[in-house]
Amino acid sequence: MPSNPPITSPSLAPCGLYVHVPFCETKCGYCDFYSVALKDRNPTPLVDCIGRELRQRVNGCAHAVRTVFFGGGTPTILPLSELARLLNFVYEAVNVRQLEEFTVEANPATVDDEKAELLVSSGVSRVSMGAQSFFRNELATLERLHSPEDIAPSVATLRRHGVGQINLDLIFGIPGQTLETWSQSLSRAIDLGPDHIACYGLTYEPGTRLTAMRRHGRMTPCDEDIEADMFLRTFDTLESAGYRQYEISNYAKPGCECRHNLLYWRNEPYIGVGPSAAGCVDGRRYKNVADVAGYVRLIERDGHAEVDSEIIDTEMLIVELVMMQLRLNEGLSIAVFRERIGVDPRDSFGEALMRLVDLGLVTVSDTHIALTRSGRLVANTVVAELAAVPRQADLALPIL
Ligand code: SF4
Repeated sequence: MPSNPPITSPSLAPCGLYVHVPFCETKCGYCDFYSVALKDRNPTPLVDCIGRELRQRVNGCAHAVRTVFFGGGTPTILPLSELARLLNFVYEAVNVRQLEEFTVEANPATVDDEKAELLVSSGVSRVSMGAQSFFRNELATLERLHSPEDIAPSVATLRRHGVGQINLDLIFGIPGQTLETWSQSLSRAIDLGPDHIACYGLTYEPGTRLTAMRRHGRMTPCDEDIEADMFLRTFDTLESAGYRQYEISNYAKPGCECRHNLLYWRNEPYIGVGPSAAGCVDGRRYKNVADVAGYVRLIERDGHAEVDSEIIDTEMLIVELVMMQLRLNEGLSIAVFRERIGVDPRDSFGEALMRLVDLGLVTVSDTHIALTRSGRLVANTVVAELAAVPRQADLALPIL
């Protein structure tokens, strides 16, 4: 094994590294992430190109990588040898001893003893597992391949090999799901003792099979009021089981919050590599082509696979700070907003902010602007209202 790079200066600002592995066994009906079925494909050229991009981006970045996240897709369906090569690219480019967290996404029944052993020996500290539901009919509606019985053994395998932290993803608002079955899924997840539980409301994204079925009346979505009850039940159930909500959809035992995702929500820099991956470093955002063959071709020909990039101007940055930080229970940091934008957000958002406070949707303290419990139920509306202020007011914004 090659030697791990030297320790980087602790004064370097931290950043995250996201690696997109775009292979799954099949495509789930609700999923709009870029992923394709692995089937008979040879993943080797793609893994080579991801390694090349990863080296280039990490070496060319003035920040120190502190968190790594392998997402997708389903990284753990790669054959063992290809997964090992991919993990090794991180080992070669990043000082893993300085990592605060190394997460790999997995699906139930895609991690056996060999893969779990490989993950742990490669420095992976956290596995995020797409459990989604503990009911067969709900998993079938989502077109998930695994069964409820696969979840516990997969968690046990990861624990047996010493994976430090485990997250379970769950989905509520599934057609046919009831408040009762949702509560049971939550309880069964809690029984497995994960360190972190993420609960997402089902969304109907353009271009997915589920959205088409809904449009053609072949599927009835969950009632909105029941979905709101599920959201509130989630909070009550998980908080009383010792999980603290720290983001609208994310709950963790104390100290087990996902550091990589926190970096997104706090608008800190991140590198993205792989097909469809996005990155944002030093005020510039880029996006790679969402196509395996196109990605390999561009990396081999040009050394990068960016198909889109933009400089984030002040107005965009304000919208992003509001959109991302209000998702966090701690809320929008007044100090960070002042530092990044040069003005106090309480002055910038003035009347709109006060209106939201009067409605009981937002609180304002000396340090943060945050959503209340009722505000979290209508978070998109609150964010849209605040994000519209800079445009409506035509504020004289400072040039970044
Ligand atoms: S396993 Fe995950 S990434 Fe793959 S298709 Fe299903 S939802 Fe999408």
